Amino acid sequence: MNTPSARISSICVYCGSQPGHDPAFRQAAEILGRSMAGQGIGLVYGGGTRGLMGAVAEAVLSHGGKVTGIIPEFLMDKEASRQELGQLSELHVTADMHERKHMMFERSDAFVTLPGGIGTLEEIVEIMTWAQLGRHVKPMVLANINGFWDPLSALIGHMREAGFIHTGHLVRPLVIESAEQIVPAIQAAATGNGEDETIISKM
Ligand code: AMP
Repeated sequence: MNTPSARISSICVYCGSQPGHDPAFRQAAEILGRSMAGQGIGLVYGGGTRGLMGAVAEAVLSHGGKVTGIIPEFLMDKEASRQELGQLSELHVTADMHERKHMMFERSDAFVTLPGGIGTLEEIVEIMTWAQLGRHVKPMVLANINGFWDPLSALIGHMREAGFIHTGHLVRPLVIESAEQIVPAIQAAATGNGEDETIISKM
């Protein structure tokens, strides 16, 4: 099993390849990126240069941080531009989605999910299933910007009440309402000081 590392050096951010309608989503991506760069924490992400994916990567880079993009060959022209991909600190072009997801997982000390679509949902659900199966204990955050992830929290609560979350103690993503609090909450969780309920709620 992967154990949490007390020192968080990289965070994987899952988020929409679209910007979404609410300007608060892009602002959250920018705040998160700036805050990661300020703490010397590298970004691992899917390499897209559009939507919220592009916003978080640009924020990390423009504040002097390191960005690792991991993208399958077939998505290079769809989710990115080759010229913009050239600006990333590190770029990995994978053969397929499976290799991409595995590399993103391996290279990250924690996972944050900003608002996004079906791809984003798939990515965080897979990370939660691996936690449930005891494959990792890395911190997981739902960035609940303007309540975006409330429906997912409600669905998981419903599954729990109905008796279908079999190892529920392993599936406790931190639900964080403000982008400024994400990095401090992850650092606190990694050092075992993550019980401050004023900033964190657990699903
Ligand atoms: P979306 O939230 O749909 O805009 O997608 C965000 C990111 O998730 C994009 O980089 C997609 O390539 C990626 N993605 C889409 N489908 C999947 C999937 N089945 N597994 C993992 N990532 C995916």
